[in-house]
Amino acid sequence: MGIKENLDMVRKNIETACAACGRGTDEVKLIAVSKTKPLPLLEEAYANGCRDFGENKVQELVDKYEAMPKDIRWHMIGHLQRNKVKYIVDKVFLIHSVDSLRLAQEIEKEAAKRGVCVNILVEVNVAEEESKFGTASDEAVSLVEEIAKLPHVRVRGLMTIAPYVKDAEENRRYFAKLKQIYVDIIHKNIDNVFMEELSMGMTGDYEVAITEGATYIRVGTGIFGEREYAVI
Ligand SMILES: *Cc1c(COP(=O)(O)O)cnc(C)c1O
Repeated sequence: MGIKENLDMVRKNIETACAACGRGTDEVKLIAVSKTKPLPLLEEAYANGCRDFGENKVQELVDKYEAMPKDIRWHMIGHLQRNKVKYIVDKVFLIHSVDSLRLAQEIEKEAAKRGVCVNILVEVNVAEEESKFGTASDEAVSLVEEIAKLPHVRVRGLMTIAPYVKDAEENRRYFAKLKQIYVDIIHKNIDNVFMEELSMGMTGDYEVAITEGATYIRVGTGIFGEREYAVI
């Protein structure tokens, strides 16, 4: 199947999932995760209406940013090293992967230099997987409180990467837990914190994430196909 057909299917699935839980389709934004994919495929996704693209490597995001139309919203979804923050602060629409105060402070420094305000999500490792980045669930609130003190950084919500599972239902509890942390933070009414976005759900489990309240879903394989290239 081509990218157009894949996108049609993903959008139809989003509609179905939204209908099933009484949410409006416009409450869920689809990020096309284009990491490792060449420009012609991104251009095809763009031609079929995609304006939100997700990348997990700084250099690749910058290269694609330069090459693609300027009305694209670029999402940094991968682990971000502090020494690379300077390359993307003025290019990204949203950084999904902030998991430490030190990283947020680096973003603050670079954003202040350029006189911009950077929107971020705090990444939470709700499933407590050792291999994953993200702050621990019980440290998420205090991390948000600390980041809120940085004037050029704006917390917009939370993000999580759920485990890779065969049955998406297994991840429902992690999505529900992220939503709970999100609600707890809303109730704290922290200055300079705008809890609006929940970035959760990938190709294998986005429908479950939507029914648990996702506002951003990050879909790679479901749009662009497998990232592994077959050896011919
Ligand atoms: C690669 C990636 C995705 C997309 O994964 P698929 O299973 O291909 O949809 C989503 N989120 C993050 C953080 C990723 O690194």
